Amino acid sequence: MTYSFLRLAAEALRGNAGWTPAWRDPEPKRQYDVLVVGGGGHGLATAYYLAREHGISNVAVLEKGWIGSGNAGRNTTIIRSNYLLPGNEAFYEHSMQLWEGLEQDLNYNAMVSQRGVLNLFSTDAARDAAARRGNGMRLHGVDAELLDAAQVRAMHPYLDFDNARFPIKGGLLQRRGGTARHDAVVWGFARAADRRGVDILQNCEVTGITISNGRVTGVDTTRGPIGANKVGLVVAGHSSRLAAMAGLRLPIESHVLQAFVSEAIKPLIDGVVTFGAEHLYISQSDKGGLVFGGDIDGYNSYAQRGNLPVVEAVMEACMAMLPMLGRLRVVRSWGGIMDMSMDGSPIIDRAPIDGLYLNTGWCYGGFKATPASGWCFAHTIAKDAPHRLNAAMRLDRFATGALIDERGAGPTPNKH
Ligand SMILES: Cc1cc2nc3c(=O)[nH]c(=O)nc-3n(C[C@H](O)[C@H](O)[C@H](O)COP(=O)(O)OP(=O)(O)OC[C@H]3O[C@@H](n4cnc5c(N)ncnc54)[C@H](O)[C@@H]3O)c2cc1C
Repeated sequence: MTYSFLRLAAEALRGNAGWTPAWRDPEPKRQYDVLVVGGGGHGLATAYYLAREHGISNVAVLEKGWIGSGNAGRNTTIIRSNYLLPGNEAFYEHSMQLWEGLEQDLNYNAMVSQRGVLNLFSTDAARDAAARRGNGMRLHGVDAELLDAAQVRAMHPYLDFDNARFPIKGGLLQRRGGTARHDAVVWGFARAADRRGVDILQNCEVTGITISNGRVTGVDTTRGPIGANKVGLVVAGHSSRLAAMAGLRLPIESHVLQAFVSEAIKPLIDGVVTFGAEHLYISQSDKGGLVFGGDIDGYNSYAQRGNLPVVEAVMEACMAMLPMLGRLRVVRSWGGIMDMSMDGSPIIDRAPIDGLYLNTGWCYGGFKATPASGWCFAHTIAKDAPHRLNAAMRLDRFATGALIDERGAGPTPNKH
């Protein structure tokens, strides 16, 4: 069924009796060409682009819970391509371009909203770093504008410009950045993949990876064994656990990242604003709640709930940037498990076992990458080789030293 205004009008007239489920709920087949483990945004996008770009539709996405129950449905929905390093910038800009046509491509309203992403700075050194990043982006053909304090004040007059510790001196703006509704992205990719023949198997946890003569032959699941020629692992914070099933140890740590939503208020913040002096990013949802977050929790965990020290740090940053938020109530908070890599950049690569492929290391920046991650991972699986756009995102860079250290923080996940 194609969604359109005419369809909407017709269904309104006949009592909405004609809508069909957005995707099927099939039984697992015994054998697939490709199994994608993980029904987050990246896994579903991988399946979609395998079918659309490479004609490989004998594919199943295996999800242990329900699709979107992981980080895909827990993030703060920010999309942008304001990266600096050559191994990253072209990839994230490709993602931004895919976002720009995504809703037409998927025939699904993912509420992509290019409302602008503004990164504030409070020191001269931070201004220099922002100018350098902006110049790097422009050299790659990506939009970037360096704003002074007066220009920021005209856009966001409610910020605390004269904060004694963190005076706002300006910001780096990417107007094409913004937000997208995270669970609608998941549903859109699921529906579009299903329409091309992909099986989406929910409540299907992978419990083992079968390997014969050095080659992957399938997986064991809570719904029985499933055979496959190729298996792609796209399980975010659970990457190390899945890789261990194949005898691999990854350069990944799992940490909780929390997010918060305030009670709904009248329209106040019409873009995304981030505050680098402390660590804070904030936007306002279409329902009116302020959506915000900060750093990861300091220690490793698989628990999808956060801890109080980070709550305190995030609220402090809120008070420094927007003191009026002190009068608002937080109505919800939650956590997701981040796959923190040792240089802060992702891995999209073949594993050192034939037929096994890895997609991980997104840290807390993987939502914006969803379309390009699926696009590049599909290419890597289909062609058995990386695309130019993910050529630098190799697993062996941690052995060769060809790191993509975007934040210059080195192997310190809590600093990325
Ligand atoms: C609070 C928070 C805020 C964030 N904010 C942003 C942001 O503003 N912008 C941004 O770009 N990024 C953000 N991120 C990061 C982004 O959400 C992730 O990097 C991205 O969603 C990860 O890819 P995914 O969607 O495929 O992961 P997930 O949705 O986590 O998908 C992985 C799936 O694998 C499944 N799985 C795990 N183990 C198994 C198994 N054994 N068998 C079968 N299935 C399994 C899980 O259930 C899960 O559904 C944020 C993350 C969090 C938690």
